[in-house]
Amino acid sequence: MSSKIKSLKYNGKWDFSPSIESLENLSIQKEYQLFINGKFQKPLAKKYFPSINPTNEQQLSSIAKAESDDVDLAVNSARAAFNGQWSEISAKERAKYIYRIARIIQEKSKELAIVETLDGGKPIRESRDIDIPLAAAHFFYYAGWADKLNYAFPNRTPKPLGVVGQIIPWNFPLMMAAWKIAPALATGNTVVLKPAESTSITALLLAEIIKEAELPPGVVNVITGDGSTGNLIVNHPDVNKIAFTGSTDVGKSIMKSISGTNKRSTMELGGKAANIIFEDAPLDQAVEGVINGIYFNQGHVCCAGSRLFIQESVYDVVIRKLKDRMQSLVVGNPLDKNTDIGAVNSKQQLATIHKYIDIGVKEGADIYQLNCELPKSGYWCPPTLFTNVSQSHSIAKEEIFGPVLAIQTFRTTQEVIDKANNTPYGLSAGVWTEKGSKAFNLAAKLKAGVIWANTYNKFDPTSPFGGYKESGHGREGGLHGLSPYLNLE
Ligand code: NAD
Repeated sequence: MSSKIKSLKYNGKWDFSPSIESLENLSIQKEYQLFINGKFQKPLAKKYFPSINPTNEQQLSSIAKAESDDVDLAVNSARAAFNGQWSEISAKERAKYIYRIARIIQEKSKELAIVETLDGGKPIRESRDIDIPLAAAHFFYYAGWADKLNYAFPNRTPKPLGVVGQIIPWNFPLMMAAWKIAPALATGNTVVLKPAESTSITALLLAEIIKEAELPPGVVNVITGDGSTGNLIVNHPDVNKIAFTGSTDVGKSIMKSISGTNKRSTMELGGKAANIIFEDAPLDQAVEGVINGIYFNQGHVCCAGSRLFIQESVYDVVIRKLKDRMQSLVVGNPLDKNTDIGAVNSKQQLATIHKYIDIGVKEGADIYQLNCELPKSGYWCPPTLFTNVSQSHSIAKEEIFGPVLAIQTFRTTQEVIDKANNTPYGLSAGVWTEKGSKAFNLAAKLKAGVIWANTYNKFDPTSPFGGYKESGHGREGGLHGLSPYLNLE
């Protein structure tokens, strides 16, 4: 397989020599099957759907579509493993399996990063430096907790819930799978995981890794399909918990489906984060943080800093620096290590982003975009910002999930707290200031699960992550990420 897109030159300013990741030793299967009870097996109805490379719209592979009977098989095998071998294994042994998964992810990190980039469109730098190392780090971290649950919850008796159904989105496919599977295994549960339909491949490579790590059959099952498969997992009577990451609309419909049952849930949903620059902030760093917060990964980040608030006194200088920095961004082949911004994940997502850009213009905001040549095929969107935005603009209220920034101004601290909290979401926020006291004051008053000070989009397995309001409930990561998988008596 060879890369078809040439590295671009950027407005005559930048002319990096291409540094394309080699695909020579990579083999992507023509067809991927369901991973049930420790084996890869064809879907009973023999239906498949395509996985598309978003940089050239070509089919990468065919993915099995799990239907009702396949979901039954997966849940039954998870139940049998939970009642059988998995609960007989000591916590210390359980930890060894999880460590083994972490180590194999590290060994295969190059292959995993390349596949993540091919399937999802994100720059190789991000898959290589963020997604894959963080996925391994999550397994390492939770492996450490497996035999220490009694210390994590003193004077309680932690017991696993049983079979957990886990449904994940397309923006961090392997990392989201790790966030879900690692704590579930550490706490002694068994798993049925469904990746998003546009990015299933790395979850299936993780299934291969799990097989190689010799986890007992049925402990982890990976089944693929679209929302209808997810819906079957949600409504399966023998599933004890649903761990969902995805859009707020689907999260709400899942909550309706499981209300009145005794299924537990964690919901990691949408966001519309505020990134706030005070006049005393280190402005160059702040601008870099804004770029990192909204443009890298094409804005496909739930905690993307999609609303920027700039204190009026530094507005002009920040806008000038931001526009200058934007013009230096490299959009193009995500397999090129020079690339900052890769492809939008799917045609559908590109249409959503374009819809919001049109709405922004129609509602009277001023648009500014990176002036660059985009590849002819594939799904691309240049980094975009809007100024002259007010609180009532749709681009300031609704999640776009693309590289589109809505910029507003403020004069006082109270004004920016009110504006930042004026959203149904509450996943994350960023504060840029020289004053520690100001950062702590805002951290206490912003209604967001994660608040970064003088940095943005930094993740660590030891730190809990999750939302307020319509961004969901429950936490993943850290000690907090264990209890949603336990009955604590
Ligand atoms: P989505 O809600 O469309 O899909 C997410 C997953 O749910 C997919 O696997 C999909 O197949 C499945 N699904 C769809 N309909 C379903 C149904 N009725 N029942 C069960 N499963 C169903 O979201 P997406 O477009 O894949 O991801 C983008 C969204 O995810 C954004 O809103 C983003 O903010 C959110 N997200 C949140 C976090 C977080 O940690 N809070 C992290 C990443 C992404």
